[in-house]
Amino acid sequence: MKKKIIILYLLSLVGLVGLSCREQENTPAMYDSGFTEVMGTFAHFVVVTTDEQTVRRCFDAALQECIRVDGLMSDYKSESELSVVNRSAFEKPVAVSEELYQLIETSLDYSKRTDGAFDITIGPLVDLWRKAGNMQQQPSEEELATARARVGFDKLVLDPARKTVAFAVEGMRLDLGGIAKGYAIDRAVQVMREAGIPGGLVDIGGDVRCFGTPPPGKKHWTIGLQDPQNEEDILLKLGLNDMAVATSGNYRRFVLVGQQKHSHIINPSTRDSAAGLSSVTILAPKAVDADALATAVTVLGMEKGLQLIEGIPETEAMLISSNNPEHVIRTAGTEVFIIQ
Ligand code: ADP
Ligand code: MG
Repeated sequence: MKKKIIILYLLSLVGLVGLSCREQENTPAMYDSGFTEVMGTFAHFVVVTTDEQTVRRCFDAALQECIRVDGLMSDYKSESELSVVNRSAFEKPVAVSEELYQLIETSLDYSKRTDGAFDITIGPLVDLWRKAGNMQQQPSEEELATARARVGFDKLVLDPARKTVAFAVEGMRLDLGGIAKGYAIDRAVQVMREAGIPGGLVDIGGDVRCFGTPPPGKKHWTIGLQDPQNEEDILLKLGLNDMAVATSGNYRRFVLVGQQKHSHIINPSTRDSAAGLSSVTILAPKAVDADALATAVTVLGMEKGLQLIEGIPETEAMLISSNNPEHVIRTAGTEVFIIQ
């Protein structure tokens, strides 16, 4: 969660400068919403505009959109559309909104492209490891086998004509934690654009997308990449226009079972947390893709992860391996974005 704060802190400083340097009515200025709690983390919005009147309305609309998406896709909220699916989709196919259906389809597409490394049916294994952390006890082989039998994107039955979702196996649970924030960011950007904002940035929990006019006097938006070893340090700065950045890491969110750290990202084939990479940052035009790919590459590991990203146009990766944390491994195309 701190990662986000550092990224935003950088921007807020720029924001204050932008505001105080505003000379004429027609010069765009930058406005910063501050942080609001949503989706289990903090959201933060920045707009660049000449029309101060629209700023508050735009911040409100963007935040409402994030709250709306969370209301559809949260697995913590028992009344969310996703929770209804999780409760009933084994008994009978559940009709869902076009929006949720599409995000599930996008997720399935990522499962196919990553050989199942990204898999929103991961829920039962996530639950098992969460319980293991709470109880301070390693799951038994039997528990792991039972949970694994309930995981697998091939067990998800979609009907594109009826827009229904069904589970082939009892006890399945969909978990959109690896993609929903990215989706919400893209939606909030859309809402801000529709409100007539020429440029802005949406940040949810440190995953960010910027669009349009950059801050006054700048050629691009500046996003700092945090050092996973030392949260106070910025490893490098990226200069971005119309791009999204998402980071997944096993260094911050994990459960401890005995001395063993287990990250919240699970490798479906090992049934255990993804190991090897301590931080994965993906750059892509849309936040939904950056978010899903950051989770996927964390599971795939360095070699397969880099191979996947090299094959996707306009998409780049920056990885830090757990055993060589000093070194950032980057795809060739990242060069143009690095400003320090
Ligand atoms: P963060 O939430 O820290 O930004 P991610 O975007 O990588 O990190 O999302 C991690 C979340 O994704 C987990 O908390 C869980 O809900 C979900 N998840 C865990 N393993 C997988 C997986 N193999 N495929 C898809 N989603 C996963
Ligand atoms: Mg993700």
